[in-house]
Amino acid sequence: MEAKVRPELARKKAMLLSGGAVKIPSDFRLPFLPSRSTAGPGAGSTAVVFAFGNTRAKKAISRDAGEFDLVTGGGKLQLWKDGNVFIDDVQLVPTLLHAPYQAFVNIDHACIYNCRFCNSPRLGHDVTKNLTDEKIIEMVLTASKSEGFESVAFTSAVSESPGMTVERMARLVSEVRRRLPGTPIGVEPYATRPDDINLLKESGADAIKLNIESFDPDIFEKVCPDRDYATILHMINHAGKVFGKNRVASNIIFGLGETDETVLEGTKVLANMGAVATLRALRRSEYNLKTLTSVLGPLVPVGPDRMLNLAKGQKRIFKEYGLNPLEFKTMCHACLSCDLVPFYDV
Ligand code: SF4
Repeated sequence: MEAKVRPELARKKAMLLSGGAVKIPSDFRLPFLPSRSTAGPGAGSTAVVFAFGNTRAKKAISRDAGEFDLVTGGGKLQLWKDGNVFIDDVQLVPTLLHAPYQAFVNIDHACIYNCRFCNSPRLGHDVTKNLTDEKIIEMVLTASKSEGFESVAFTSAVSESPGMTVERMARLVSEVRRRLPGTPIGVEPYATRPDDINLLKESGADAIKLNIESFDPDIFEKVCPDRDYATILHMINHAGKVFGKNRVASNIIFGLGETDETVLEGTKVLANMGAVATLRALRRSEYNLKTLTSVLGPLVPVGPDRMLNLAKGQKRIFKEYGLNPLEFKTMCHACLSCDLVPFYDV
């Protein structure tokens, strides 16, 4: 299957995703509120999704400084880099809740674990949303009335125990399934028992994301010291049987000092379980860089070439195993904003 994005624009997306913030002119009024995520690679930053040439990229924005500049003029928007036009015609895409066209809710960002790359537990109390179940359902129902609404997803940190978080997520899924019967629902839990997976499926979830984070076991142990590598793989394997092919996704973060071979080997192991790897370049931030380098040593920033090469390798593996990320109706593969998506961007 051919990509839906021209190669030169896929490279620009890779450059954008691996580059710094977008500077917005001080007098430019965004047509909608920007995304203030408490989960995902941009957690803690203010971000906007930029669409261009059939694809999109979510970028941190700043009024003060940036590697890219948003330039207005002639009735259109452009992105500039180093004093030259970088992308000629960009549109700003509203995020319903966190993602375009999706109500993707982080139900809790307080966390008992200490994954070194994750910004959520390090966010200050000003972003604490203290969401009750009632409030979350109200937010989802309000979003469902917006133009372009397509799907719902839930993610969560683990504030007390993984089991309790899964139970809460399952209650929310049941309620959304009852109120919005035809809407695709995705879940991104930290599951520790096969029963967790079964419960979420029985509650009405259509797709699940269980993140292995790094396929290098030594790196995993350093960056996720409180979580268990073997348990996550076991959960992915079980989810492959319960949810089926192209319904299970798993983040593999690259940029933590692992080799490309490890990333692609991980993609293959997951594919063999029917799971679709989401290859995600590490987002370095003021929140995570110091902690990460203290356990991993200096880290080489991910550049566009590595991103593109891994996405092409990932596509070859998906072809071999008959997987397709475009089958997902919720979460990151449907959102397209943070990674190069095989069969779409490359
Ligand atoms: S790709 Fe995933 S993490 Fe990024 S904005 Fe979309 S849903 Fe959030």
